[in-house]
Amino acid sequence: MKIKRQKHAKKTLTFYKYSFGFREPYQVLLDGTFCQAALKNKIQIKEQLPKYLMGEVQLCTSRCVLKELESLGKELYGAKLIAQRFQVRSCSHFKDPVSGSVCLLSLADDNNPHHYFIATQDQELSTKIKKRAGVPLMFIIQNTIVLDKPSPKSLSHVQAAQVGQLVPEHQKQNIEHLKDEQGVATESGRRGRKRKHQSGPNPLSCLKKKKKDPKPSVKAAGEQSKRKRKRKRGKPAVLQAT
Ligand SMILES: [Zn+2]
Repeated sequence: MKIKRQKHAKKTLTFYKYSFGFREPYQVLLDGTFCQAALKNKIQIKEQLPKYLMGEVQLCTSRCVLKELESLGKELYGAKLIAQRFQVRSCSHFKDPVSGSVCLLSLADDNNPHHYFIATQDQELSTKIKKRAGVPLMFIIQNTIVLDKPSPKSLSHVQAAQVGQLVPEHQKQNIEHLKDEQGVATESGRRGRKRKHQSGPNPLSCLKKKKKDPKPSVKAAGEQSKRKRKRKRGKPAVLQAT
């Protein structure tokens, strides 16, 4: 199981490396819910995240996340202690702190230029992250950290980018035009062929084959002489034989 999990993570990491330019050290933005889940499941984030991602990891959070954890009091005291050890990334909410989820989303705005991974247990935040391209999502499930597979949004973004790179805009139009033309051409061509086949020379060719088969047999000489006689007698026999 562990090896399989690692394999999936490696595949996903490779995708983000090549498609979105992610590099080590991986920047993982963690929120209070993730820290709380790690505490509950006895997961040492600092040790396990680099192992799982097979590389150097920079654990970070934001001032808003810390403020939120402070405001939630005793129950999240442990999570707050964990989050406090991470690097604090500056956000634009210096004067008016916002909720942790809003803050993390804003840090990954504009196509996630800092290549943040977002680690959260918040379903609402997860859903919003999946709607963006190029923001890897991490969560804890059944006592283990999981790097989510690329969202359909990320996959389609990459596909669109690849098509865009290979074919410039003005050529795309030409290709569409050609496709239209070819589409019409092949359709009419197929129709024409079908008609030919339907009214094709099936009955005649079948008759010929049947008559050709006995020709190369040992009786060739005798048959030939018979045919000569038939040919002399009348024209219909000649037509059948040839
Ligand atoms: Zn903030």
